[in-house]
Amino acid sequence: MAFHGFSFKKPAGWTRKKGTRLVALSPQDPTYAQLEKHFQDAWKHPKKPKPQVHAIFEIVLTEESLIAFLRYRALVEISRVPRNANEQLLFHGTNRACLLGDERTRTRLCTVTGCLLCSVIRNSFDVGKCGKRHKFRRFGTGIYTTACSSKADDYFNGIPDSPYRAVLVNRVVVGNPLTRQYNAEELTELPFGYHSVVGVPGADLNYEETVVYTNDAIRPAYLIIYAADVPPELRVADLKSILSTLFKTPVAS
Ligand SMILES: [Zn+2]
Repeated sequence: MAFHGFSFKKPAGWTRKKGTRLVALSPQDPTYAQLEKHFQDAWKHPKKPKPQVHAIFEIVLTEESLIAFLRYRALVEISRVPRNANEQLLFHGTNRACLLGDERTRTRLCTVTGCLLCSVIRNSFDVGKCGKRHKFRRFGTGIYTTACSSKADDYFNGIPDSPYRAVLVNRVVVGNPLTRQYNAEELTELPFGYHSVVGVPGADLNYEETVVYTNDAIRPAYLIIYAADVPPELRVADLKSILSTLFKTPVAS
């Protein structure tokens, strides 16, 4: 699917305000419809019902951040034949300790230490910080994204006051991916000529994931807020699975 690229032109509706980097997209905006479809089509977990999209925001980067990304993308582009950085729009779920995006006007980023969502929107990703968050790193210390929105949803953690959940849609310079079916936790750098690792489903993975190891290979582009409603039958299924794990005995259905 075609998306307009990052641009130095600020989106319509953008007013420079301290602590804000989001512009709400109108549901009538063609980009809103494209992103909603992209999110819904990428929702692959059969047991998780497709959620309703509540709001979509465009993320406005600083010029400095945009220039660093474009510089890296150009380097990857000229190293490949044909010239193409293989940029993809991939999902990332993380902790949200505030109510950012719950209403179209709620666009002020918070400064709560545990609110990684606001931190990523403010300063983009930091491979050092991403590496520290999870003990298990399937493909080493890198920045993890996925083509599967329902997988990114697994990594979302919110506060109980909100009926919504959130994922980031990111522009990722995938370049030449090193594809792996098996975990490789020892991975710290890529072999010459590669720009990312793509974990393919089959052996150790159920759903795709893409890892980059350079901060400038990725920028958050959009924030999707969606309903957190879980139908009652799924809650029962979850409860059975929790009970069965706790007591290590199957629960009769
Ligand atoms: Zn926040």
